[in-house]
Amino acid sequence: MPALLDKLLHFGVGLAVGIAFWWVLERYARNGASTINPICFLIMLIWGASGLFFFRKLGIPILSGTLFYMAFPDWDIPLYQWTGFRLLIHRSWLFHSALIPMAALGGWAWVMQRSRLAAWQKSLANVVRDGAIGLSVGISAHLIWDALLSSTRRGFYIRGFNGATSYLWLFVNLGMGIGIPLLIAWSMRSNRQPNHSES
Ligand SMILES: [Zn+2]
Repeated sequence: MPALLDKLLHFGVGLAVGIAFWWVLERYARNGASTINPICFLIMLIWGASGLFFFRKLGIPILSGTLFYMAFPDWDIPLYQWTGFRLLIHRSWLFHSALIPMAALGGWAWVMQRSRLAAWQKSLANVVRDGAIGLSVGISAHLIWDALLSSTRRGFYIRGFNGATSYLWLFVNLGMGIGIPLLIAWSMRSNRQPNHSES
């Protein structure tokens, strides 16, 4: 498959999953939907699903570079070339998973636990949260398309895993990558209502 077509398909699946995710937010977690920054969500969604590949031909420094061009999960390819770490051989479990956005969300939750945050610290933490939510949904969409497309060829494999474990890894990470952002958005709703009735 030509690279551009593959990019466009990853992009399309990313948008579809992102729209479905946002639709669920609007329906079941309205406060979440109004709190999450949609631009931040959208950029990271696309980066996770297909990469910001449309900048490639524009020749803008950095933005047209490899790390923006590649979908985030496929960063294992250039990173392996640069570092030679065997852990990064494509498709590495570290990048083809929800682990990295989950770590960012964990960092966000930890920061928000601390009392006495300045307003700018809170807004920075929320940008991290919204970006991580977009990235998580984007990576999930990327995994869905990787798995569907590979199934029609030699099968879907995470490096070092057999077929069954690769699919198990896929489903666990889809559950986490979409479920945890939904839970976070949903908890924004349930946190607010008690505050509202108290005041
Ligand atoms: Zn991939």
